[in-house]
Amino acid sequence: MIRIATFDPYEEKQLKRLCEILYTAFAVGTEHSSNVRLPEGFAEPYEAARLLEEAPRVHAYADDKVLFLTSKKLKDRALPSGSAPTNGLSKYAGEKAIITTSVVKDLEQGMKTVARHALHQLGHTWELHHCLDPRCAMYPTWTPSFPQGEPIFCPFCRDRSDQKIRLAKS
Ligand SMILES: [Zn+2]
Ligand SMILES: [Zn+2]
Repeated sequence: MIRIATFDPYEEKQLKRLCEILYTAFAVGTEHSSNVRLPEGFAEPYEAARLLEEAPRVHAYADDKVLFLTSKKLKDRALPSGSAPTNGLSKYAGEKAIITTSVVKDLEQGMKTVARHALHQLGHTWELHHCLDPRCAMYPTWTPSFPQGEPIFCPFCRDRSDQKIRLAKS
């Protein structure tokens, strides 16, 4: 099951919409589990890796995934050639992911983009790698076309995530 934990207030109807999209993409139950408190010592923009590390524990069972949502900005990643925006972060094969909804001005209109980021980060937690199909949510998030895409996987990634999820359940 996917449990959404929010650091900031969101409209219930938008969280419901996000749950529906995630359910459609992964075919696993998805719910907004809790509002969680920001750990001490964080100021916007948040350092995503540290926040993921220090995030409060969310009641979850083995094989559950927790998706943290914040409306605040995440700190740019330092690259050898400058810096790149951080829209979300997860650990490959981990249990937690975080995304920022600050990538869109209006969540109602930008829900597809936010959901596409959610699919991408949760995909990594189910051991999906980046994908070369530009329509797929596992396409690299830093590409200019990424935000315009649909919150869907290509057939290959969808099969792979289905397999991982089924394996985890049994
Ligand atoms: Zn990625
Ligand atoms: Zn793919």
